[in-house]
Amino acid sequence: MLCLGIESTAHTYGIGIVDNTGRILANEKAAYTTDKGGIHPSKAKEHHLTAAPGILKQALRKANISLDNVNLIAFSQSPGLAPCLVVGKDNAVALAKKLLIPIVGVNHCIAHLEIGRLLTRTKDPVLLYASGANTQVIAYQGRKYRIFGETLDQGVGNALDAFARYMGLGFPGGPKLQELAKQAKQYIELPYAVKGMDVSFTGILTSLKDKYDSGKYSREDLAYSAQETIFAMLVEVSERAIAHCQKRELLLGGGVACNTRLQEMCRIMCSERGAKCYAPEHQFLVDNGAMIAWSGLLMYKAGVRDDASIVDIRPAVRTDDVEVVWR
Ligand code: AMP
Ligand code: MG
Repeated sequence: MLCLGIESTAHTYGIGIVDNTGRILANEKAAYTTDKGGIHPSKAKEHHLTAAPGILKQALRKANISLDNVNLIAFSQSPGLAPCLVVGKDNAVALAKKLLIPIVGVNHCIAHLEIGRLLTRTKDPVLLYASGANTQVIAYQGRKYRIFGETLDQGVGNALDAFARYMGLGFPGGPKLQELAKQAKQYIELPYAVKGMDVSFTGILTSLKDKYDSGKYSREDLAYSAQETIFAMLVEVSERAIAHCQKRELLLGGGVACNTRLQEMCRIMCSERGAKCYAPEHQFLVDNGAMIAWSGLLMYKAGVRDDASIVDIRPAVRTDDVEVVWR
C-alpha cells in the first residue's frame, strides 16, 4: 500500500511517498524563503501554488511510480497558516477524487513525532518539537499526545529568525545564528524564561534587540548567548518531562532541532540521567511530506477516514485534541 502525503502548514510545500512497511520512496520539497522579513502568508501560498505541480512530478519520479500506484492521500490539516493549509488540502482532495482513493487529514505536530519514531526506532519517547512556529514538549499518555510544556508566546524558530532578521540576516535565520555563534568570544547574560513547564521568548528577543542596538556587543556573542540561553530552557523543560513521565527516550523534531548545539545539549542531559537522545536526519526534522504520508498510513490502518467532499483544514487544532487511535 502506498500513501502520498502533502505538507503545507507554513513555508514548505512537500510531498512524501511511503509504503505501509515504513519505506520512504520519496520526500521532495520546496521552501519559501525571503531576503528580508518573515513569512507573508499569502506570498507563501503563492509559492506553494507555483511549486506544487513540480514537486508532485519530482516525487513520483523519485519513487519511480505513477499516480495510479497511489492507494491513499494524506495532507497536513492542522495546525498552520490557513492560506498555506488550503493549498495542500485542495491538491489532496483533487487527487483523492481523481484517483477515487481515501483521504486522511493529519496533525502536523504529531507527524513530526511519528516520523521520528519510525526512523529512530524509538518506542515511547518524549518529543522536543522545536520548529519555526511551534515549541512543544510532547509525550504519549492515555491515548493522546499530551503537551507537557510549550511556548507561551512565539515559537523558538520564529524568535531566532526575528533576531536574525533584526540584524539584517534574512529568513531563515536559525542556521545563520548557528554559524555566527561559532565565532563568539563571550557569553552575555540574557533573561531566562522558564515558567513551570512552559517557556517564553519575547522578553529574550527584546533584550537581544536592545543589546544589539546599544552597539556594545558583537553579533557573534549575541548569537551565541541567544542559543545558549534559549536551548538551556528547552533542555530544562524536556528533562522535567522525561522525569515526570518516567520515559527513557528523548526524540528531537522541528527545524531548530537541526542545530548541532541544541543536539549536543540534549545528548548531555540525556546521558546524565540514563536516557537516550535521538534525532532523525535533517530532511525529516524540518517540515516534510514523508511524515504526513507515514502518519496518514498509521491512521488509515487504524480505521480513520475523511470524506473528500467535506474535509477541510483545521488551523487551530492542537496536538492534544487528537485521539491517538493507532497506538
Ligand atoms: P520547521 O518550521 O520545522 O520547518 O523549521 C524551520 C525553523 O528552523 C526556522 O525558524 C529556522 O530558522 C530553524 N532552523 C533551521 N536550521 C536551524 C539551525 N541549524 N539552528 C537553529 N534553527 C534552525
Ligand atoms: Mg513543523
